[in-house]
Amino acid sequence: MLFLINSDVMVLLGLLSALLFVMGLKGLAHPKTARRGNLFAMLGMGVAVATAMMVPQVGAYLWIIAGLALGAVIGIPMARKTPLTALPQLVAAFHSFIGLAATLVAVGMYLRQMTFNALDGGTAAEMGIGAAIGMITFTGSVVAALKLQGVIGGKPWGWSGRHFLNLGLALALVLAMLLFIMQLTFLPLFAIVIISAILGVTLVAAIGGADMPVVVSMLNSYSGWAAAATGFMLEQPVLIMTGALVGASGAILSYIMCKAMNRSFLSVIMGGFGAEPTTAGAEAGPAMSVKEAGADDAAYMISNAARVIIVPGYGMAVAQAQHAVKELYVLLEEKGIATEFAIHPVAGRMPGHMNVLLAEADIPYDSVHELEDINPRFKETDVVLVLGANDVVNPAAQTSPGSPIYGMPVLEAWKAQQVYVVKRSHRPGYAGVDNPLFGMENCALVLGDAKAIVESLVTALKAS
Ligand code: NDP
Repeated sequence: MLFLINSDVMVLLGLLSALLFVMGLKGLAHPKTARRGNLFAMLGMGVAVATAMMVPQVGAYLWIIAGLALGAVIGIPMARKTPLTALPQLVAAFHSFIGLAATLVAVGMYLRQMTFNALDGGTAAEMGIGAAIGMITFTGSVVAALKLQGVIGGKPWGWSGRHFLNLGLALALVLAMLLFIMQLTFLPLFAIVIISAILGVTLVAAIGGADMPVVVSMLNSYSGWAAAATGFMLEQPVLIMTGALVGASGAILSYIMCKAMNRSFLSVIMGGFGAEPTTAGAEAGPAMSVKEAGADDAAYMISNAARVIIVPGYGMAVAQAQHAVKELYVLLEEKGIATEFAIHPVAGRMPGHMNVLLAEADIPYDSVHELEDINPRFKETDVVLVLGANDVVNPAAQTSPGSPIYGMPVLEAWKAQQVYVVKRSHRPGYAGVDNPLFGMENCALVLGDAKAIVESLVTALKAS
């Protein structure tokens, strides 16, 4: 035993770390303060871990240090190597670890309490709930990570009868929980783990395509509640507080994202319950005639424009074109061409993805606008440059009731005089649906890597 602290000091340190987490969350609300927010959150986690280590019952420091070292050896290279575009699957994988840990703690606590014959109904309820939330988070996050990584199909797995299966599983889970609380035996706990594992898969598998960002933030919330449940089992107030913070903020984020994407919050958390089935035909669509243009044509039109809007998307992140985009922005402003950026709430592969990239390239915040602010301005715009974005400018979201993205608010780029879409091929975006924008009279594709095309635009504009 290295240190001893009494419970009052522990509560105070817990409050301090909770305060630091709240300051961290507040800081993360804006790109300007996000770095500071991250520092607060890291400090809060440091205080929380140190407090947990100083609890009198903790004795096996060697094992804890070995665990921390192993985690660092795996985690640090993983975090360094993972590109920003693959962050959602990394985050989903992290959530799965939290879920698995909660379940393992529940089972471990059960075995320990049974050995000392100290289990009662109240503690069993905490264990059962912890094991259930943990396992749903674990298998749900594994499915989400595999979908996002493209290992398994990213589209929703819709099949008739899944709602009945989910309902049956939920009832079986409640039954197993009651049995566990009454009998305190291992079999119902085992049943809780297995049923929750299946439920995690069926709930997340039913969601996909453009709804994946909501799934990731929903799993984030679940992982928070799993951590809070672990806190109750281990009687760790710090874990309860931090878990509840993550759970509540994740739930609020999921709700905000559902509202932004015009999705039902309840439908998403209940595995797409009540969601309109999408038509398979919406993915194929009729063959369109698509015009193509060169970077020189686009540069000519841009040089004669008074207003330009740039719509960045996932492709800009893949190409790491943000610094070239900054050069283009500066050049256009120098030429007196008013240039703005239009950001869709789910552009890229994580909330705020585009804001982060544009901030990294030092593009002024006041030229970056959210969907509601910028949509009315497309009709007064001469040229829209869509840079590696696709789903977020797809008019099918407004016009095709059978489409998987129907109802999602989109950037109305097609209302501008001329639209240039920079991408490498005619392939669809993340949701896998055709984009009628590409076939419109005022639209042309500029095929190529986003960074190379933006650099060509800069060269051509400098020469003009
Ligand atoms: P999309 O995935 O819809 O489209 C991106 C486009 O970029 C593709 O059509 C691709 O076309 C093009 N592209 C890829 N690489 C390059 C490159 N190097 N140079 C030029 N173009 C490139 O992206 P959006 O940003 O429009 O929409 C985001 C989608 O991701 C939404 O459906 C959203 O729901 C989903 N999503 C978002 C998350 C979030 O939190 N933001 C999380 C998970 C999913 P091509 O291959 O022809 O080049």
